[in-house]
Amino acid sequence: MYIEQKYLLLASSQLQGFKKKGDNLYNFRCPYCGDSQKNKSKARGFFFPKENNLIYKCHNCGKGASLKNFLMHLDPKLCNDYIFEKYRKDEKPVQVKYEQPKYFGQGAKSLKSIKKVSSLKLDHPVRQWITERKIPSSIPLLVILRTEVLPVG
Ligand SMILES: [Zn+2]
Repeated sequence: MYIEQKYLLLASSQLQGFKKKGDNLYNFRCPYCGDSQKNKSKARGFFFPKENNLIYKCHNCGKGASLKNFLMHLDPKLCNDYIFEKYRKDEKPVQVKYEQPKYFGQGAKSLKSIKKVSSLKLDHPVRQWITERKIPSSIPLLVILRTEVLPVG
């Protein structure tokens, strides 16, 4: 919620008659419909909290929006900053599962246990990949798989 409040306050200089009405309740003139033209002190746009977010609702034109969509309408540059900061904040550290690599021993022994592409079924994805690229199917599979993961160029 901290980020939402921060960005609403950053946007507040662009919102006519902006007032804090209570905890996470903000009121100002609606930037979508322009609010009342007769009474310039009328402000019927509200931000209120909902499910750990701030939601916009105008009681004049009925417009509803998330903070993100509201910022996009008001100030796309500020909206991009908001998305960037929110994303960075919500990002969870990636958990990498460590698996003990199998040690095959050096050299020939492990290579002998590798299948040849020609021993795979005709509809096997690797075999199809090989066939499409016109690579001889007698090449050991490991060599092909290693070729596949190498960066292009
Ligand atoms: Zn409105």
